[in-house]
Amino acid sequence: MAAEVTNCIFCKIIRNEEPGEKIYEDEDVTCIKDIRPASTHHYLIIPNRHIRNAKALKPEDSELFNKIVATVDVISEKLSLDPASIRTGFHWPPFNTVDHLHLHVISPIDQMNIMRKMMFSPSTYWFVSTDYVKSRLEEYK
Ligand SMILES: [Zn+2]
Ligand SMILES: [Zn+2]
Repeated sequence: MAAEVTNCIFCKIIRNEEPGEKIYEDEDVTCIKDIRPASTHHYLIIPNRHIRNAKALKPEDSELFNKIVATVDVISEKLSLDPASIRTGFHWPPFNTVDHLHLHVISPIDQMNIMRKMMFSPSTYWFVSTDYVKSRLEEYK
């Protein structure tokens, strides 16, 4: 295993070497609770394979990327979240928190404080939407 993977906190949670509250997991993705929730519900959908960030995604990762995005619906259905109340997005380098790709899923938006709203505001230099990443992946083709 590469050192990056051995030492990665999210890889450790996926391997059950570190505690993490898993909401959902399958062969491709794992969903955990964010340890510093920005609202009542705050989850991270992470690929089981170590990918550094949204910018590092390659066209061959498209299927996995689509799976990550589709998992938002799985989670919101499982937890009965109102789809209109959900904010999702990825950090954009160099503004990463953990260097393992993760999609933030936060709900409800109106319970986020002003700082968190800024931090998780889509279409900024530091946080981007799933559509932005998807369009970027499609541009490669
Ligand atoms: Zn990792
Ligand atoms: Zn994060």
